Amino acid sequence: MSSAVYLDYNATAPLRPEARAAMLEAFDEVGNPSSVHAPGRRARGLVEQARRDLALALGAAPADVIFASGGTEANNLGLLGLARANDCDVLLVSAIEHSSVRVAARQAGLPVRTIAARQDGTASLDALRGILDSLPADAKPLLALMAANNETGVIQPVAEAAQMVHEAGGLVHVDAVQAFGKMPLSLAELGADSLAVSAHKIGGPMGMGALALACNTRLAPRSHGGGQERGHRGGTENVPGIAGFAAAVRAALRDLPRCADIAALRDHVQAQLLALAPDAIAVGATAPRLCNTLCLATPGFAADVQLMSMDLAGFAISSGSACSSGKVRASVAMQALGLPEDATTGAIRISLGGSTTRDELDAFAAAWGEARERTRMKESA
Ligand code: PLP
Repeated sequence: MSSAVYLDYNATAPLRPEARAAMLEAFDEVGNPSSVHAPGRRARGLVEQARRDLALALGAAPADVIFASGGTEANNLGLLGLARANDCDVLLVSAIEHSSVRVAARQAGLPVRTIAARQDGTASLDALRGILDSLPADAKPLLALMAANNETGVIQPVAEAAQMVHEAGGLVHVDAVQAFGKMPLSLAELGADSLAVSAHKIGGPMGMGALALACNTRLAPRSHGGGQERGHRGGTENVPGIAGFAAAVRAALRDLPRCADIAALRDHVQAQLLALAPDAIAVGATAPRLCNTLCLATPGFAADVQLMSMDLAGFAISSGSACSSGKVRASVAMQALGLPEDATTGAIRISLGGSTTRDELDAFAAAWGEARERTRMKESA
């Protein structure tokens, strides 16, 4: 049976009909946005309208929105582009960042200091304070801290961290890929100098993203060419992708008030699963979390076994763990939380969306409970 119930919205969300329609319309346009003739001007119009939509959603000026090929590129551009253009001396990267930040940070040719995380899923402000205090007085740090974590959904203390880093004369890059569309976001309120978002996490097309900059922020380009995106990213714009992204942004903003209903559904399934497995941990449940995300760590119930059993039962979920050298290991971010290893290797992520129903979640909980019982019986046999 193929997965009929989709509970993996944090991996990617289904394409919204609004995004599909906008893309189909844009596919029929022929112009290059850099051309001065009428078709070119029409394509330019689509791109600039989309830029205004993104800017409005993020509290940025339209001129400070740069379209990119996804969250990964936007994170690379933000982190490495800020570091280079502003002569930063050291990168401060939280231990729970997505690989598109953690791995990119190693390419900057600068020292990287890791900010430890706490068991509740938040990056430690005390650890950040300690690192800032240990830097030479003239060092310029660049902090990378995500708005919300992709595995746990835990919302990070970005505004507090940004204030500390700005007081130390540094800059802040925020990966808002998971937070976008699931909570209100404002560049100014977060104190971000750059902020990355991705289209496919909010029901837009895959392969589209954007980086928003605070006013007057200097950024070094990483892709050189025809001077598109005000010189920040060379290359002909993906007009249909941009149009689809903007349509998804408008729809996601319209749907933001539904987050409370989604959170209630998430809490419902969380309570059901914890009743079935009282030794399981709802990771990050004591901290503020994205409305749609549940990370459940069940000791002795390997995440890959859960994933496969649930897939066979018709439910698509995900796990942060991976098997290397024959041993299942928790993801880097999960390991950073300092939870017991037998729990983190049993951590799965259930992420809901606007179309998730209570019946689907009840069916999921029943199937999960059966799978756990089967595993326990096999192990005790
Ligand atoms: N940052 C976070 C927190 C993510 O969850 C992801 C995708 O999983 C990315 C960045 C990368 O985004 P994209 O898939 O658009 O490259």
